[in-house]
Amino acid sequence: MGRLVLKFGGTSVADLDRIRNVARHVKREVDAGHEVAVVVSAMAGETNKLVGFCRDMSPLHDAREYDQIVASGEQVTSGLLAIALHSMGVNARSWCGWQIPLRTDDAHGAARIDSIDCPLLIERISSGQVAVIAGFQGIGPDNRITTLGRGGSDTSAVAIAAAVNADRCDIYTDVDGVYTTDPRIVAKARRLEKVAYEEMLEMASLGAKVLQVRSVEMAMVHGVRTFVRSSFDDPESPALVGANEPVGTLICDEDEIVEKNTVTGIAYSKDEAQITLRRVQDKPGVAAAVFGPLADANINVDMIVQNVSEDSSTTDITFTVPESDYNKALATIEAQRGEIEYANVEGARDVVKVSVIGIGMRSHAGVASDAFRALAQRNINIRAITTSEIKISVLIDAAYTELAVRTLHSLYGLDTQ
Ligand code: ASP
Ligand code: MG
Repeated sequence: MGRLVLKFGGTSVADLDRIRNVARHVKREVDAGHEVAVVVSAMAGETNKLVGFCRDMSPLHDAREYDQIVASGEQVTSGLLAIALHSMGVNARSWCGWQIPLRTDDAHGAARIDSIDCPLLIERISSGQVAVIAGFQGIGPDNRITTLGRGGSDTSAVAIAAAVNADRCDIYTDVDGVYTTDPRIVAKARRLEKVAYEEMLEMASLGAKVLQVRSVEMAMVHGVRTFVRSSFDDPESPALVGANEPVGTLICDEDEIVEKNTVTGIAYSKDEAQITLRRVQDKPGVAAAVFGPLADANINVDMIVQNVSEDSSTTDITFTVPESDYNKALATIEAQRGEIEYANVEGARDVVKVSVIGIGMRSHAGVASDAFRALAQRNINIRAITTSEIKISVLIDAAYTELAVRTLHSLYGLDTQ
């Protein structure tokens, strides 16, 4: 017996039948004796529809009204799930973000959670009432409704799990866990039993779309054990009723992972573009002159490679930006030409970043060189490399994405047998 937060995403609550199915999952946990809070998303497609309404009414709409509108999708689902639970005889009530209250800053449309002080919520769930909470929404310092950015109900769930001191946060979704890589590219991808917070953070930010990145950061900071599992399993199947180890992936502290693999997963991100500045002056202040204006223009620079010049007069600088910022980045650099004094600028949009991730890398030498050799054997040229303690990323031509991911997946023994 413990305290659980269960989160159900848009596809899991897409229609009334699925909401009934969700209610059966909730009931199973209640019957097992747990104290339960549930966090729900809007029904699939609903938030997009509401965002569209805002745009159509006026492209220059007030962000506070945007939040007022788009937060409504979650409010509907929370009420519907509470009703579904009532009709199964489960004691439940719905909660909006402001009723908890889940307090955020005033960044409407992408607000950050400041605090969740919720004695009443805790009192209710400990008395056995299921709390059905509208995800994605909070209340700002101006007393107005805020939303946490697209995909934000994951973050609501983890934050609430931290606030009520839950034993686990179960993220029910349309996949049964986190995989070693994208199963659409590698049929031999394997579901991971456990992933360390840090690894998941890398995988999430590299496009493993299972969880909002901020929810993983939050789980890591507060030590919320987060379990990714499928909502499409039969809620009353014998495998789930009274199951100690249901199918899914636990995101947890690395100390909880007994068998540490050197490499845990291979991720890729297509949202990359490369820019190279040729024959830049090799003198103090040049990197600042390049990257300062890009930061001011709100362009997120990811990989950066700079050479040591042969004659200490000029060098090349290569970096990557999100593909959607490519033109803006080029224009920003060109506007700085007087300052930076480069010979010419080259760029490529058809590039992809492939990353090898694993906490075991900290204590294993040769992981990077193995990757480079394997890619070379496939004739895949590496345009740029960056590494961290637990990650190696290479930038390659997009045409080789699948080959590179498959090659690395087999190389590190991640294929299912
Ligand atoms: N409904 C919101 C969205 O679609 C939040 C979420 O589902 O996590 O972005
Ligand atoms: Mg989501």
